[in-house]
Amino acid sequence: MKYVGAHVSASGGVDQAVIRAHEIGATAFALFTKNQRQWQAPPLTSATIDSFRAACEQYGYSPAHILPHDSYLINLGHPDDDALQKSRSAFIDELSRCQQLGLTLLNFHPGSHLRQIDEHPCLARIAESINIALAATEGVTAVIENTAGQGSNLGFRFEHLAEIIDGVEDKSRVGVCIDTCHAFAGGYDLRTEADCVRTFAELERIVGFRYLRGMHLNDAKSEFNSRVDRHHSLGEGNIGKTVFRYIMRDDRFNGIPMILETINPAIWAEEIAWLKSQQLDASADAPG
Ligand SMILES: [Zn+2]
Ligand SMILES: [Zn+2]
Repeated sequence: MKYVGAHVSASGGVDQAVIRAHEIGATAFALFTKNQRQWQAPPLTSATIDSFRAACEQYGYSPAHILPHDSYLINLGHPDDDALQKSRSAFIDELSRCQQLGLTLLNFHPGSHLRQIDEHPCLARIAESINIALAATEGVTAVIENTAGQGSNLGFRFEHLAEIIDGVEDKSRVGVCIDTCHAFAGGYDLRTEADCVRTFAELERIVGFRYLRGMHLNDAKSEFNSRVDRHHSLGEGNIGKTVFRYIMRDDRFNGIPMILETINPAIWAEEIAWLKSQQLDASADAPG
């Protein structure tokens, strides 16, 4: 079964995100559990935690289909030790918030070397950051997202993801999320069915689908292999709709949250309905 949704706003409280997901017909969703542009956030209150859990129960969302995203400020590969320490503390806080909410996944961008250290030491720092954070928390899997490779961001090659996983001690609590826009901008073509076959075979060979915990379904305003991260609505960008149909018909993407981060929230409901309709067994989901 496929689970599709969008990264919905949590303004007014994390429980509001659940309601917004329900309103657009989502069967999965993503959210920030705190303001993603600030380091500090007030701790979650037990009232907030209770209402989030109750809303998930009411609307039928299980933790396996909810993919929280961490703050954009965190850089787990930071070359400076003090700054790295700050990011590691913030990441532990993010994992703890997920744990409190009963969530089991946390999606994050691997990190950036800021042109101060080489790729391999940076990837090793990221793996060590994950080890420290997993040891300090329980029950939440660290889900590494591939990036577009903008600036000095690592994670735009599947090899980067594999190298980080290699350095993580508890393999049962590490996974990956593949963002189609980032993959395309990072040099993995997805425009034709043959491109999709090749790119996902590469993912299987380098990382392995057993680590796949989520997908971000985005078309791209940016050009192929441009290393520029600009999302677009499905079918309106340079990737086109083929890959999204391909994913909806491929069993390897069953059971994981597949999240729109497309640029027009007003059409998320339509995009979700279109994705659902692309399944070969879509009639099984039709009402009545
Ligand atoms: Zn992301
Ligand atoms: Zn993404």
